[in-house]
Amino acid sequence: MARRTKILATLGPATDKEGVLESILAAGVNVVRINFSHGSEEEHLGRVKAVREWAQANNTYVGVLMDLQGPKIRTACFKDGIKIQLNNGDSFALDADMDELSGTQESVGIAYKTLPQEVKSGNVLLLDDGKVVLEVTGVEGNKINTVVTQGGPLSDKKGINLRGGGLSANALTEKDKKDIFTAAKAKADYVALSFPVSGDDVRETKKLLAEAGAHAGVISKIERAESLVEETILDIIEESAGIMVARGDLGVEIGDAQLPAQQKRLIKLARSNDRIVITATQMLESMIENPIPTRAEVFDVANAVLDGTDAVMLSAETAAGAYPQNAVKTMHDVCLESEKNPIAKTSHHRLHEHFREIDETIAMSTMYAANHLGVKVVAALTETGKTAMWMSRMSSNISIFAMSDNVQTLRKVTLYRGVYPCGIEKSSADDWSQVNETVIETLTKNEVVKDGDLVVLTKGMYKDKSGGTNVMKILHVGDVNY
Ligand code: PGA
Ligand code: MN
Repeated sequence: MARRTKILATLGPATDKEGVLESILAAGVNVVRINFSHGSEEEHLGRVKAVREWAQANNTYVGVLMDLQGPKIRTACFKDGIKIQLNNGDSFALDADMDELSGTQESVGIAYKTLPQEVKSGNVLLLDDGKVVLEVTGVEGNKINTVVTQGGPLSDKKGINLRGGGLSANALTEKDKKDIFTAAKAKADYVALSFPVSGDDVRETKKLLAEAGAHAGVISKIERAESLVEETILDIIEESAGIMVARGDLGVEIGDAQLPAQQKRLIKLARSNDRIVITATQMLESMIENPIPTRAEVFDVANAVLDGTDAVMLSAETAAGAYPQNAVKTMHDVCLESEKNPIAKTSHHRLHEHFREIDETIAMSTMYAANHLGVKVVAALTETGKTAMWMSRMSSNISIFAMSDNVQTLRKVTLYRGVYPCGIEKSSADDWSQVNETVIETLTKNEVVKDGDLVVLTKGMYKDKSGGTNVMKILHVGDVNY
């Protein structure tokens, strides 16, 4: 049994070490994340190249997601790079007029110059992922005066969040716009958009991607309090290929106590709207330093699987941790075991709903038949991956093979739960009368099926017509005619 939940691993200095990238890919990483917050274009392109070479050599597909930094609001630097210690009750100011490198025990600069106009007395600012908490006592010109309500150390360039959200910073910065060209150059399969506040941010990103010639799907990172409003989140989901439950920044903005319920809600919303969902941040945080996870982390990964996530993500665990391969292996094992739970296998998806489209109807009927008949695999001939997407929204324990001669599509489906990319020869794919045979041959050659197994196959009448799937056929492997 193959793992259905996908593993997304962030690359970084730890995976640049000799042999580490190969070891995590071999351990089961389905999609790699390249973080534009760190590193140069040259480094990013080098990593993408290494991943693609490994995939080709191993006759498999690995997706590439490139994550835009977005308007992360940070403190400026301290004088001589010092680290200060703030204690409860101390006065501390964030001063937009201060020099970049002149922070002291009393105040520090900020790069986001309009922050003083956007906060008022009583607001709560969270620094360094909430490790330091400041309450605004007043604003004097470009200087925000605060009192420390939770002390801690503070050093250069730490993130600032406003509890409850509401900062006006644009989702796409000038740097992001430049990085979109790098993503196009790298032929990224997905681009993650940080801090989108509305569907408009996604629409703008898609426009810029198209202008840059990129075919990447947009993954919207849900990490601002205001994006959780029902109407807003539905618009963001509708416009995106998928969303990421970005628990780091979201937790700081809304408070961690609200995160588990929001995770469940976001996963459900994404799935019911036929979109991908990734669960991210601190999944195996302790494994940055330790070879084994805490039991709570094991439960966190398992619960995300049971909530229905498409993918679970590793951040610093693989990018900068001491045990990247162990982290991937741990995720693999926990996902595989969790998927055995009946909750992960049974579905009431769209059982009582009206279907809107023909390909959707074929996809839903296929999964209904497959689940009830007990077929070995579903084989979806697909140009864009859409049929496989419809199918994978339905919980099941039957593997869905997305069969295509389109490499972009094959790499995109690496993120879909329960879907496995399977390349078919271009020549045979052009001749649809021969395609049933090709499918069975390919699956047999890959030892996915053997004589006697049942396969449900879906296809369209015309190969290149996207959304044209209108045939479902049940085949017995080993029959003379398909
Ligand atoms: P980040 O996004 O790691 O880029 O900050 C994820 C999160 O905020 O959880
Ligand atoms: Mn974030």
